[in-house]
Amino acid sequence: MNGRNFPAGAVVVKDGEVISSEISSPYPGLFHADSKAVSTAFQKSGVQKGAILYVGLEPCLMCTSVAYWAGIRRIVFAIPKSNVSSNYYETHNDTHNVVAAFNEYMNIVHLKSLEPEVLEVVRKWENNHSTDLSSVI
Ligand SMILES: [Zn+2]
Repeated sequence: MNGRNFPAGAVVVKDGEVISSEISSPYPGLFHADSKAVSTAFQKSGVQKGAILYVGLEPCLMCTSVAYWAGIRRIVFAIPKSNVSSNYYETHNDTHNVVAAFNEYMNIVHLKSLEPEVLEVVRKWENNHSTDLSSVI
């Protein structure tokens, strides 16, 4: 990973097939992996009804909304916001409050079985970038 942005990853899966997979931009705060993966999937095959977005970190408000407007109604993440530095998020707002206001139900699932493996990646990255943490999302 070049630059200082956290190397988050995201995958869009539909009907058992990987439609897109992306990592975050190397530029802090720009192009989260989640939004990039959804955008790439949308460019390939339009509205993503029935697709699932898998992400390492609990998605932020922006990425959750991007996924919703692309037709995705299920997001699976490994690490909840509360288990990582608040520096990874631009707001402390609870995403669930926003999701509750959407017209259609959106299911956001914390898959705890993936958490130890993803958390290990996060901690390794943090140890290598401990002086950069104020600029990451
Ligand atoms: Zn995001």
